Amino acid sequence: MTQACIFCKIIAGDIPAKLIYEDDAMLAFHDISPVAPTHILVIPRKHIAGPAALTQADETLMGKMVNLGNDLAAKAGLQDGFRLVMNNGESAGQTVFHLHLHVLGGRVMTWPPG
Ligand code: AMP
Ligand code: ZN
Repeated sequence: MTQACIFCKIIAGDIPAKLIYEDDAMLAFHDISPVAPTHILVIPRKHIAGPAALTQADETLMGKMVNLGNDLAAKAGLQDGFRLVMNNGESAGQTVFHLHLHVLGGRVMTWPPG
């Protein structure tokens, strides 16, 4: 738990979120400011600042996060395609410094990303 971290506050139940899934290691909830018809965030309960802060000890957790992202995309009916995104650092668009996997879908995506 990091005091100022908004996602740690969601985990602690101090601020509300539209929860989709939770277990002893992870939570998934709807993004407050969706950029696609489906925009889900998968986060670990453990406070990790971002992808670059992952260590070997987090490899199993990372795998579980991706598997959960896939499951939630399937449940959301995104069989035509979806995007799993992790922004790392401010210039990549990271605004919350608690690891999170974006699950985006429900519209046609362009490449390269902005
Ligand atoms: P990033 O820009 O990759 O760090 O993504 C952070 C995401 O968290 C953004 O898409 C925000 O809209 C989302 N977000 C920020 N605060 C909340 C919140 N309280 N509940 C749900 N999503 C949030
Ligand atoms: Zn946190």
